[in-house]
Amino acid sequence: MIPVRGLAGLKVAVLGLGRSGLSAARALREGGAETMCWDDNPAARDVAEVDGFQCASFRSEQDFDEIARLIVSPGIPHLYPTPNPVVALALAAGVPVDNDIGLFFQSFATPQWDSFETSPRVVAVTGSNGKSTTSALIHHILEHVNRPCQLAGNIGRGVLDLEPAVDGEVVVLELSSYQTDLARNLTPDVAVFTNLSPDHLDRHHGMGGYFAAKRRLFAEGGPDRAVIGVDEDEGRFLAGQLSQGPTDDRVIRVSVERKLTGPGWQVFARKGFLSEYRKGKQIASIDLRSVAGLPGAHNHQNACAAYAVCRTLGLAPKVIEAAFHSFGGLPHRSQTIAEHNGVRFVNDSKATNVDSAAKALTAFKNIRWICGGLEKEGGLEGLAEASSSVRKAYVIGREAAGFAMQLNVEAEVCGTMEVAVAKATAEAEEGDVVLLAPAAASFDQYDSFERRGDDFAAQVEKSIAR
Ligand code: ADP
Repeated sequence: MIPVRGLAGLKVAVLGLGRSGLSAARALREGGAETMCWDDNPAARDVAEVDGFQCASFRSEQDFDEIARLIVSPGIPHLYPTPNPVVALALAAGVPVDNDIGLFFQSFATPQWDSFETSPRVVAVTGSNGKSTTSALIHHILEHVNRPCQLAGNIGRGVLDLEPAVDGEVVVLELSSYQTDLARNLTPDVAVFTNLSPDHLDRHHGMGGYFAAKRRLFAEGGPDRAVIGVDEDEGRFLAGQLSQGPTDDRVIRVSVERKLTGPGWQVFARKGFLSEYRKGKQIASIDLRSVAGLPGAHNHQNACAAYAVCRTLGLAPKVIEAAFHSFGGLPHRSQTIAEHNGVRFVNDSKATNVDSAAKALTAFKNIRWICGGLEKEGGLEGLAEASSSVRKAYVIGREAAGFAMQLNVEAEVCGTMEVAVAKATAEAEEGDVVLLAPAAASFDQYDSFERRGDDFAAQVEKSIAR
């Protein structure tokens, strides 16, 4: 645990008692703050109370009279579409709102670091897609070279649950837009922006707010190095804004669409080959085509970003290349779960938005595509261009018929995963890929994208056993 520094003896309110809220409460207590906790869910309050935390509802501005700060969990709206009522009271009372990420950055460095040979460093990864894969890949490469490292954030471990850093340690954080939007302190040493496409627009009041939330990672603390995907206007804008001039190598540009050979520092992948260029000269090249854990151009983008980060940490290209080959990929992301009669079954349940699903569709050929679910704002047009390898779509979800009508490929309304997998398996021919890439959230039929992916795997097992 990282004890929270700078709030000893003060009262801090914690709203939301899930994983990050509870770990924030514990870290605050460890740092000597007094916590007042709340969650609308009585079961979550029970867990906190068993842990010795005092729970009390906040009903008026006066309830915030002695509160120094309000710590809010990422699932709770702090501004848009409307502030949660407790947040609204804190705002009215003039109490600063923060999250566990802000507390982490204010607490991570300790006086003990003065005796370290190499200061610990924090790498923070944000972007619309590829955050988890990129973060996990960086962590994997660092483990491969036996560098002390830890991984946390949106990927599953609360940041305040990390162990205090040892000499030379690298902490890798995956940060969502909700997290970067709210954190009062954001000071990574290396920051990564993978890409940008519409997602969570209701929580950010549109695309501008969404980009602004991600951009805070670069604007607030001024990282020593910024690794920026420049395949969208926003990334190009950000890279330009952060660099002093074209040769400024504090900014490393990443592309999977264009060859980048300018005078600065850049890493790009084309036709399956990663290249690093610095000062107009090629420094290294890696063949990514045989890296089984990173299929498709979208994963090559993640590979480029992870490579760039590891280069800033002083690792050699050959070492990074070796580590790529032992990366197993993450569950529910372009994950091959079975091969049967020449048909490959791929679970990309994490493709919860149009862009990530479109990327999955371009990574494979002869696709029997299982899609559908709770549609996100912005429509499905982005899928049309990517659908040329789709042989047929098998649509699931409560609104399957409406979803199917918007696709520009042959589509059958299946409703459930069981029906979709059975039909796709029965119709698949040798060389086909049965791909779950929903382009939608899972909540109409499942608790999470993980449950949806698990169901896909279970149904695949059942249908190939027939
Ligand atoms: P995040 O943590 O940002 O959601 P993940 O690594 O979990 O990213 O991947 C989420 C989804 O996006 C998966 O469907 C995955 O296959 C796809 N994906 C991964 N990397 C990228 C990328 N660089 N660009 C677009 N889609 C990607």
